[in-house]
Amino acid sequence: MPNKKRNIFFFGNGKAEGNASMRDLLGGKGAGLHEMTRIGIPVPPGFTISTAVCGYYDSHSHHYSKGIEGEVAQALARVEKILDRRFGAADNPLLVSVRSGARESMPGMMDTVLNLGLNDRTVQGLIQRTKNPRFAFDSYRRFIHMYADVVLGIKSASKTNGDPLAAILERKKNARGARFDTDLDAADLEDLVGEYKAEIKKTLGQDFPEDPMDQLWRAIGAVFGSWNNDRAIAYRELYQIPHNWGTAVNVQAMVFGNLGDDCATGVAFTRDPATGHKRFYGEFLVNAQGEDVVAGIRTPRPIAELCQTLPKAASDLQKVCKVLEKHYREMQDIEFTIEKGKLWMLQTRAAKRTGFAAVRIAVDMVEERIINKKEALLRIEPDQLNQLLRPVFDQKGKEKAHLLGKGLPAGPGAASGRVVFDAEDAVEWKKRGERVVLCRIETSPDDIRGMDAAQGILTARGGMTSHAALVARQMGKVCVAGCEGLHVDYASRTLRVDQAQLKEGEWISIDGSTGEVFQGEIQTLPSEVLRVLLTRSLNPKESRIYRQFAKLMTWADEVRTLGVRTNADQPDQAAIGKAFGSEGIGLCRTEHMFFQGERIQAVREMILADDEVGRRRALAKLLPMQKEDFKGILEIMGTLPVTIRTLDPPLHEFLPKHDSEIVELAQVMGVAVEVLRDKVNVLHEFNPMLGHRGCRLGISFPEITEMQAQAIFEAACELRREGKNPFPEVMIPLVGSLPELHEQKAIVERIAHATQKSYGVKVRYLIGTMIELPRACMVADEIAEEAEFFSFGTNDLTQTCLGLSRDDAGKFLPSYVLNGILPEDPFVSIDRDGVGALMRIAITKGRKTRKKLEIGICGEHGGDPKSVAYCHDIGLDYVSCSPYRVAIARLAAAQAALRKKI
Ligand code: ADP
Ligand code: MG
Ligand code: MG
Repeated sequence: MPNKKRNIFFFGNGKAEGNASMRDLLGGKGAGLHEMTRIGIPVPPGFTISTAVCGYYDSHSHHYSKGIEGEVAQALARVEKILDRRFGAADNPLLVSVRSGARESMPGMMDTVLNLGLNDRTVQGLIQRTKNPRFAFDSYRRFIHMYADVVLGIKSASKTNGDPLAAILERKKNARGARFDTDLDAADLEDLVGEYKAEIKKTLGQDFPEDPMDQLWRAIGAVFGSWNNDRAIAYRELYQIPHNWGTAVNVQAMVFGNLGDDCATGVAFTRDPATGHKRFYGEFLVNAQGEDVVAGIRTPRPIAELCQTLPKAASDLQKVCKVLEKHYREMQDIEFTIEKGKLWMLQTRAAKRTGFAAVRIAVDMVEERIINKKEALLRIEPDQLNQLLRPVFDQKGKEKAHLLGKGLPAGPGAASGRVVFDAEDAVEWKKRGERVVLCRIETSPDDIRGMDAAQGILTARGGMTSHAALVARQMGKVCVAGCEGLHVDYASRTLRVDQAQLKEGEWISIDGSTGEVFQGEIQTLPSEVLRVLLTRSLNPKESRIYRQFAKLMTWADEVRTLGVRTNADQPDQAAIGKAFGSEGIGLCRTEHMFFQGERIQAVREMILADDEVGRRRALAKLLPMQKEDFKGILEIMGTLPVTIRTLDPPLHEFLPKHDSEIVELAQVMGVAVEVLRDKVNVLHEFNPMLGHRGCRLGISFPEITEMQAQAIFEAACELRREGKNPFPEVMIPLVGSLPELHEQKAIVERIAHATQKSYGVKVRYLIGTMIELPRACMVADEIAEEAEFFSFGTNDLTQTCLGLSRDDAGKFLPSYVLNGILPEDPFVSIDRDGVGALMRIAITKGRKTRKKLEIGICGEHGGDPKSVAYCHDIGLDYVSCSPYRVAIARLAAAQAALRKKI
């Protein structure tokens, strides 16, 4: 590591000390600036102070390690030399930006200061050089404003609850009858500088720092400090970004988009980030700087217009975008500035995109021969596929609804909810179980929790690159941005479009695929993909997204080695899972069948019967019903394996809860109410999760297992007779020792033989066990003597391994995760060190006894991409997950196979 001790990395004039692979040290923005410089793209020179310095600064009560100041001075001197300007000099001053940039982009969460180096002397130098006092004072007032906010913290110091400098700007605009900041002239802007400084003195009791070096160091400190501001912390918690990564700081020579009408600033994507459509996409503002586009200061113009406004720069920009996309072999999200007709690139990064765009771009890029299939598979977050399954509005419902207006389709999908106007309300209302649509003039980074809580987001201002659009894409939220004609009034909590007015709490519907906004609630329909796959109401030829999704899934199946099954208790669920490509059923819970209709009566009779005779009488009623269910599922799954678990939950779950139910049941059973009530009480358990459940039931009441086995094998034999070839796998739950399995297996075998004999057919079947107790893992070699397959029940295994009840963990588990005591929720993602270790022991021991032992997982974890990857790594044969997660698991399994090879 030759660069181990290096803190500062210079870039400029076609040379860079860093490159794209150094994100950890330089942050994403820094790495991009270095890489662009390297490949000959015009980037203003500058240097990056590494994330390691941030770590040091954080842990040494805001001090730097020795020598940093000298290194910064040296790097700054190199920038000065390239540009022939001097930082802090009265003539020809160098101005810089001080920009944050972490390893992962955290849009708008941290701070940036532009035009740094200006003071009353240097501003004169700037006027001399540019002969443009308006520009110089525009830059100066911008600098003071940003600096006061980011470094001096004027907003929190101000009693007015807001941004006092923004208020001064508004007043100035009103006084001058100016609609936009561009309508102010040099004198107005110079006045603003004075007024800003006076306000700073008044509110903060200090003078604005005039010394550029002092400005610089305080700005660097503030950017490092912004890593730990509340909104950055909240963002990291939401996206599980480690708190110890830190941000880098980029100090970069300024280029100016606010020098006149031959200047501009903008943001662009190399493809459409909402749909994935291959077209140059973006927005810009003439005579503007920095965040103006994103912050919605003026309504930005579509990038296509740049070809007319500044044709040379526009064509350069298109060329650069092509180069960048080709170089990174990935869709880019870029920021640029045009100074006097010359294009400068200020940022490039892999663009965030919706699930739709992710699928389309990945498949298109393979067809364009930019990437190969494997790379395409690795480009998509498996969870993003969920967006393709999201409901859309029913066309008829849309036609009937009152169309309020149209904005930009910034986040596809359909959302109906009650109108709320601020983020906190969104969070509160959601907690109460309400669906809400967050309606804002524009969103800011402070709103992310509210955006997360809302069904959808609607803004009055801002383009496709606005904060709302950006975050919605990343979160996969429905979003309509920049809805023209929409007036949001926070004070009266109403929104208005023409004549229509909606108050807080009233229903609104937004279509993030078309940009339409409707009054009231609208019914939804399944998505295109679901209409092709499930309802078959859409022809695959008519849906591009379906065809691309299907293509991607075929590629995933070509590389994955891990099987994917689905958990399904009923035939309809089995059918959904199969439509999504499941290769069998990994868990069919027989008890769910017990709750339907009148069945529960028979179940209760069975539980409360006094003796075996009574139990058998009740079981006989259940037999035909269970048989029908099994037959339905086995038939749908054809020759694919169907894992059926014998009765698992504690019996009291089926018992009547209310006294009226007990009275009714007593009548049906012809016993005294008192007697029945006593029986119910007797069945009470102190800790039912660890009580009389699982195979323990089948051992106490073998006739239950008998009945279930009978139902399974009669169903299978009947199908066999019809010429079909079903494949049941009978699974015994909560086994902790070989004798338990032995007893239960003997029953199932006996019934299987007898039933096949009486039907005169042979059925393929397996008998195996769930592995969900630590003891079962430790004696897995013995259990495998009888078990023909294992299926990890990781829900219970997690509970019993961690000694942690899932239903009670909610009180403290979230804080464990936030404080890093646990890396993540073990019920969401497999706890590799604990539960995972037990699984590995069970696998090794099980396969020692039975080399070809089939091993799968049927806990909730089977649909979690990280856990799927783990299951691949430790050599499972399959995962099983809920029907709607089958595609996600297929992709996750493919990625695991690819990552392992790389
Ligand atoms: P963020 O991470 O919030 O996007 P940036 O550091 O990218 O913050 O800065 C925001 C914007 O400020 C940039 O998109 C660019 O328009 C402007 N900017 C930053 N540095 C410079 C510079 N050196 N010259 C001109 N504009 C700059
Ligand atoms: Mg940026
Ligand atoms: Mg279990």
